[in-house]
Amino acid sequence: MDFKEKLLKILPESGIKENEPMSLHTTFRIGGKADYFLMPEADKVAETIKLCKQENMPYMIVGNGSNLLVSDKGIRGVVIALEKQMNSIEIKGNIIRAQAGAMLIGLAAKAAESSLGGLEFASGIPGTVGGALTMNAGAYGGEMKQVVKRIGILDKDGNSDIIDAEKYDGQYRTSYIMKSGAIVLWGEFELEKKDKEKIREEMDELKKKRTEKQPLEYPSAGSTFKRPEGYFAGKLIMDAGLAGYTVGGAQVSEKHCGFVINKGGATAEDVYTLMQNVSAEVKSKFGVELSPEVRIIGEF
Ligand SMILES: Cc1cc2nc3c(=O)[nH]c(=O)nc-3n(C[C@H](O)[C@H](O)[C@H](O)COP(=O)(O)OP(=O)(O)OC[C@H]3O[C@@H](n4cnc5c(N)ncnc54)[C@H](O)[C@@H]3O)c2cc1C
Repeated sequence: MDFKEKLLKILPESGIKENEPMSLHTTFRIGGKADYFLMPEADKVAETIKLCKQENMPYMIVGNGSNLLVSDKGIRGVVIALEKQMNSIEIKGNIIRAQAGAMLIGLAAKAAESSLGGLEFASGIPGTVGGALTMNAGAYGGEMKQVVKRIGILDKDGNSDIIDAEKYDGQYRTSYIMKSGAIVLWGEFELEKKDKEKIREEMDELKKKRTEKQPLEYPSAGSTFKRPEGYFAGKLIMDAGLAGYTVGGAQVSEKHCGFVINKGGATAEDVYTLMQNVSAEVKSKFGVELSPEVRIIGEF
């Protein structure tokens, strides 16, 4: 039996795509084809991963692809996408529980509807619960680690486990999940009762700030580089005179130099070259090393 036939014993035909362009699954709208793009239901993730391991088939998890730069050569092996099938959200009292593929924006909106505060910071982050927990996503002083209570995972050997906030160990754009190679299946968040109108006001305020400051009208993957200790990446890039610097279809946003945008038809190679040139220029002008926040996937 070949790999596809074995997959069909676990997943329906509709949950398996071959040669799937990753440009359809990244907010950069960039990326070559994945050999296999799988969309399992929650109870099939472990079995799918076990099969990949048995068959020595490399695999990776993708949420909403909002922090990814995928090579033009694509991804060899399997991409497991959780956003399509695993997106339920449930509320009990002040606890909100979501499957890994639920969108953070939807989670924050549902919390607000139920007069639960604590996720206002997340209302404009276009990732999934799984991706946001992996990266310990944060904005405007809030971070996932402030609200997470428990996380259902598959560890790197494919066994299920539940971890608490302490083990989660959220740090700046990393966490136990990222470091251990675990997979998030669901997250549970502890929120506080708060006036609905007040939550909405705060979310609207943050939305306004984002729209004013960030180039949301172009495809991107958010902040391209991490914040170097004691600096802001965007300010360093602006001070290096690189606002509007362009390679092919990729450009340092003039609105916010911390963002690389796809102005139209950018390739992954354009973005990658631009990132390298920007890093080299900032290093030579200010002696500061920039490291990517965007996850670089595949061959460059
Ligand atoms: C316009 C814009 C604004 C943004 N603003 C912010 C911001 O304010 N703050 C911020 O922190 N980020 C921001 N981002 C970046 C991005 O939205 C976050 O990093 C988000 O958490 C990524 O989630 P995702 O589901 O898209 O993950 P993906 O990009 O799909 O994946 C990111 C990483 O997480 C891994 N992963 C995904 N799901 C799982 C899972 N279930 N289990 C294990 N690993 C998993 C992937 O393998 C990959 O390594 C922004 C992006 C854009 C485009």
